[in-house]
Amino acid sequence: MCLFCKIIKKEIPSNIILENDNYLAFHDINPKAPIHILAIPKIHTESFNDVSAEIMSGMTSFIQEITKEVNIENNGYRVITNIGSDGGQEVAHLHFHILGGAKLKWGHFSDSDPKGHF
Ligand code: AMP
Repeated sequence: MCLFCKIIKKEIPSNIILENDNYLAFHDINPKAPIHILAIPKIHTESFNDVSAEIMSGMTSFIQEITKEVNIENNGYRVITNIGSDGGQEVAHLHFHILGGAKLKWGHFSDSDPKGHF
């Protein structure tokens, strides 16, 4: 069973923010911003490559609910999902990073020349 499935089953503790029958949100153990929350579907889905439109639809409302719960919906925030090896995905269970609570930085994501591809 994957790490996040164990968190869903409460076999591994997590700091839960919001939960319903289909989704769970908890604080990232290694935060990259003052607010760093992970939102996951309870049904095991490896990555964004495999997610159905139905799960994404519910995820959209769930993420909006989280941002209201932690009061970042007006100041702004960032939603990220890493996919596969180039995307930097470490846990093979679809998760959305919700980052906020401060002005977030934006920059180059790799050492390759971003103008080299097109
Ligand atoms: P990614 O690199 O997109 O797969 O992100 C995985 C995220 O899971 C990282 O930001 C980790 O800090 C986070 N993480 C790993 N283990 C735990 C855990 N037990 N509880 C909360 N967050 C975790």
